[in-house]
Amino acid sequence: MRVVKHVYLYMSCSTHKIQYDSKELAENALIDQHIYKGFLPHEGPQDVYECELCGYWHMTSKSWSGDRNERLQEMIDSGEMKRKQTASKWESGFRY
Ligand SMILES: [Zn+2]
Repeated sequence: MRVVKHVYLYMSCSTHKIQYDSKELAENALIDQHIYKGFLPHEGPQDVYECELCGYWHMTSKSWSGDRNERLQEMIDSGEMKRKQTASKWESGFRY
């Protein structure tokens, strides 16, 4: 049997945040949240960080300090975020 990576999600960290294996995975999740929850650029988590407590990656808390993840910023700047958010609304419109 293969070891499933998602097992890590169930290990605990005292921050009680979801743990990601790598920066890339945390960034993917960050971007997904913005797409599927339809956040405005300043809403929701803005960046990811490597946790000193557990060694995994987490998303930052919601308050925006002025720093934003580079990949997220690029998607916002290029208009790709808006397009994906619109597409995501369409999909959920069909589902519900
Ligand atoms: Zn942690």
